[in-house]
Amino acid sequence: MKINIAIDGPSSAGKSTIAKAIAKKLGLIHIDTGAMYRACALAIMEAKVNPEDTEALQKLLDAIVIDFDSCGHVLLNGIDVSKQIRNDVVSMKTSEISSIGIVRKKLVSLQQKIASKKGYILDGRDIGTVVLPDADVKIYMVASAECRAKRRYDEYVKQNQKVDYQEIYDSIVKRDYQDTHRKISPLKKADDAIELDTSNLSVDEVVAEVTKIIDDKLKK
Ligand code: C5P
Repeated sequence: MKINIAIDGPSSAGKSTIAKAIAKKLGLIHIDTGAMYRACALAIMEAKVNPEDTEALQKLLDAIVIDFDSCGHVLLNGIDVSKQIRNDVVSMKTSEISSIGIVRKKLVSLQQKIASKKGYILDGRDIGTVVLPDADVKIYMVASAECRAKRRYDEYVKQNQKVDYQEIYDSIVKRDYQDTHRKISPLKKADDAIELDTSNLSVDEVVAEVTKIIDDKLKK
């Protein structure tokens, strides 16, 4: 049986890492929808389009192609931008443009089209509520802001990037606020999603928990 799984939650809760691991374990295809919004933000920044200029923004949205290669790297107009989209400037811009209706309309319909074949695990903010309300399993992954900031900080340090913990923490709190307070598709737990707090769990422990949730759900 082919299934679709939705994983939602705030930034840096570990959604993509876990979704990737579960996809490998269960033979599903992982779609990081945050990467799609990030690629879109990058396109807007590169084209210097004012997001408030609806006509110019629509023209850009009609012209860009967002896709994934077989390794899961996000492609913007055929070019792998997976590294370029991972920094705080793009993160903040993404959180800003993801509240715009025409941006969401384009990406939600693309995500629904991809997942219509089934066999996918999508992670994001509105997967269980808007993109795949009929997903076979829905998980809402949370972790404290301190813990998420620390994880992100460690990640940057590992990559030899010069970073400030407080800046990362502030940016996480700000994005949480923007993502949960926007008018269209705000981040929220779907009524039928299972909440999982990953604050004190290792990656392996979260994978084990999620696997159990999926097994239990599919047995019903
Ligand atoms: O998951 P990630 O942190 O990469 O997402 C970047 C931003 O994209 C989020 O802060 C959010 O504003 C937006 N996003 C969204 N809906 C999704 C996925 C991401 O609005 N399904």
